Amino acid sequence: MNARDPYGTGTAPGFSTVAVHAGEPRHKAANALTTPIVQTATYTFADTQELRDHFEHRIEREEYGRYGNPTQRTAEQKLAVLEGAEDCVLMASGMAAVTTTLFAMLSRGAHVVVTNDSYRRTRQFLTQTLHRYGIECSTVPAGDYEAIAEAIRPNTRILISESPTNPYNRILDLERFADIGRRHRVKTVIDATFATPYNQQPLAWGVDLVLHSATKFLGGHNDIMAGAVLGSADLVDGIRAFHGVTGAVLDPFAAYLLIRGLKTLALRIERQNANAQAIAEFLEGHSKVQRVHYAGLPSHPEHAIARRQMRGFGGVVSFEVEGDLDAAIRVVDACRIPRIAPSLGGIESLIEQPALMSFYELTTEERLMVGIKDNLIRYAVGIEDAADLIADLAQALDLREQHP
Ligand SMILES: *Cc1c(COP(=O)(O)O)cnc(C)c1O
Repeated sequence: MNARDPYGTGTAPGFSTVAVHAGEPRHKAANALTTPIVQTATYTFADTQELRDHFEHRIEREEYGRYGNPTQRTAEQKLAVLEGAEDCVLMASGMAAVTTTLFAMLSRGAHVVVTNDSYRRTRQFLTQTLHRYGIECSTVPAGDYEAIAEAIRPNTRILISESPTNPYNRILDLERFADIGRRHRVKTVIDATFATPYNQQPLAWGVDLVLHSATKFLGGHNDIMAGAVLGSADLVDGIRAFHGVTGAVLDPFAAYLLIRGLKTLALRIERQNANAQAIAEFLEGHSKVQRVHYAGLPSHPEHAIARRQMRGFGGVVSFEVEGDLDAAIRVVDACRIPRIAPSLGGIESLIEQPALMSFYELTTEERLMVGIKDNLIRYAVGIEDAADLIADLAQALDLREQHP
């Protein structure tokens, strides 16, 4: 079968055709249409000869649940095709994917460069946990390519960043980032959770590895935890082998739900892109909103880069309201449709104040040091109707005026 034209239609299939069908054998166990949940911890061998054939790689089969599961394999193959990656390994959470990847690729004496607007737990793992194992980390401002290049040392092994970033939706020029890595022979890693392969494909711009918290848009229904690592067969192989040791495996049922979520990825992301754009434009025009951080707005400092490398700008809108922590609290509490919760990317809209949800234990001054403003609100847009979400935001912002 020709990978570029698997259905013999004369053209490469579109994203949704791939999302629905890729990675799944046409004929499945029991003639099922959907991929079965293979709920097993271990796999049997007919005899010792089969065991030998397995260990000497003469046959392809499963061995034990920590090394893989057929439902997980199907989800991995589907996501690999969507991301344009040679291979994919799925894990129990996004942080399992981040930590296992970094542990697998680094050893004592190595050095990593990370950008400052990166997921808090990733930075914490780099600067605190890995530090205890003799691995050093330099943090540089997101969007400062000279600072990234200057931070590279002879022992630097990884440049890691995100695009778009959390919570400010900063956009990294992926081609430029990948180029810095290649010139210095350092591997580049992008956490692309906020974009998904529908909006952006970092591997196509030369990045070495893509990470996702599949808990977010890829699963898409706020009902599973999962993480993904995608890249060349060579790189992913090493990480998969290490993952067989650390063992944060994806449950087969979660793998099934991920497959189910991936099939509607394009539909959901198109809707979330459109909803987020409408909300961002509404907020930008509102007198009680000081600033909106969304790459789909021409006022966004990296709008041009985003337009070049993204199909859409994603489903997260961050904005600063006029006033302090309490002013933002009043807006969050007055919203009636989005629920107050961490996370993003699901069909339900969620709202939160990063200052409280992710940085609760810090003082206002400490939060400002890491760039988190008290009046910042992060709106993770779901698939509800944009008109309803906007009407709800309008009443929440207006309510503030009545109770200053
Ligand atoms: C949520 C998130 C993670 C962590 O993923 P979990 O599935 O919660 O472990 C990592 N990176 C980004 C950008 C995220 O949003």
